[in-house]
Amino acid sequence: MKILVINAGSSSLKYQLIDMENEEVLAKGGCERIGIPGGKLTHKAHGETYIIEREMPTHTDAIALVLDELVDKTAGVIASMEEIDAVGHRVVASGEAFKKTTLVTDDVMVTMDEIAELAPLHNPAAILGVNACRAVMPGKKMALVFDTSFHATMPDYAYMYAIDYDDYKAYHVRKYGAHGTSHKYVSGEAAKYLGRDIASLKIVTCHLGNGSSISAVKGGKCIDTSMGFTPLAGVPMGTRSGDIDVAAIDFLCDKKGMTMSEGLTYLNKRSGVLGISGVSSDFRDLAAAKEAGNDRARLALDMFCYDCKKYIGAYMAAMGGLDVIVFTAGIGENTPDVREAVVSGLEAFGVKLDAAANNYRNDGAVHEISAKDSAVKILVIPTNEELVIARETAALL
Ligand code: ADP
Repeated sequence: MKILVINAGSSSLKYQLIDMENEEVLAKGGCERIGIPGGKLTHKAHGETYIIEREMPTHTDAIALVLDELVDKTAGVIASMEEIDAVGHRVVASGEAFKKTTLVTDDVMVTMDEIAELAPLHNPAAILGVNACRAVMPGKKMALVFDTSFHATMPDYAYMYAIDYDDYKAYHVRKYGAHGTSHKYVSGEAAKYLGRDIASLKIVTCHLGNGSSISAVKGGKCIDTSMGFTPLAGVPMGTRSGDIDVAAIDFLCDKKGMTMSEGLTYLNKRSGVLGISGVSSDFRDLAAAKEAGNDRARLALDMFCYDCKKYIGAYMAAMGGLDVIVFTAGIGENTPDVREAVVSGLEAFGVKLDAAANNYRNDGAVHEISAKDSAVKILVIPTNEELVIARETAALL
């Protein structure tokens, strides 16, 4: 069975064609500048990279170009579109409308339109991606795989905000979480790596990238996560503030003459480690600046690591113990200093790092970085959201 995984953004679209027999990636790539002059497709297959510069006014043009490449005599990996058994689409937010991976139908797409406002930067793009695929591949089975699904198992006392209950019922304002496919993948891989049944494990998964979220996974089910109604909540991020007293926003808006909407843009785009350091949202730049003596870069890194540590402690309490900490995503996979700072001070709770094992260059493999006598295992596991989307799609079929 071959599954095409599509991750559509507002002006970009990433894809992978995965053969589910052996979970091999046959081809992958991405379209950039959809709807903007200067369109470009980068396609990787057979160990080669093919670049096509062509205007893509719409997502439908982009998908058509991707399919042309997939069946191309030189760059292609399949003889015809018929070889694609199904398409799995990544969707950021499901609200309370969808709790699990869902087959695309006309009715489902109506509901998707209704909930688009929950993730205004992401969901409309996913809808464009689905509609484009339906236009180019009519009749093909398609699945929506939601980033929020893995968090649907959170108990009510964890996902509720303490607001008027009637408003929760009317507007579905609650915590939904994010990066669910990544948390699901790495927690499953952790159990596999350790040769343990996931039902017996208490795992904290730290997805630390441009956006960061931390989840408590007990017995294979998410019971809490750091992101909230939107991906603004939790630890400080590249440009996002993370948790903040909302009264401070009202105060700041007043002082700076910002509307609430401008205030939210400020919190989403100009805050986080970028806002604190004034240097960059990229952790490589922050590390270099700290090394050069920039104290605000030092502060940004310290705030990030301190908050990650607090979430680990909180989730240890929520789960009544801890067996495994997993680091993943750009920062989690690549930054030994951050991993060390996050787990340092947790020795009293059985968390002990092996500094030498932690200090390696990412090679795409799973690494165990806890000391031999650490009660809690610490693992670094490269995430693979596309594979989860393909597996979910295949399972639905
Ligand atoms: P996104 O949320 O956009 O998928 P990523 O998971 O790619 O983000 O993470 C981006 C972050 O990871 C950046 O802060 C970047 O500095 C960091 N990062 C990525 N690769 C490396 C690397 N090789 N070394 C250090 N940091 C890295």
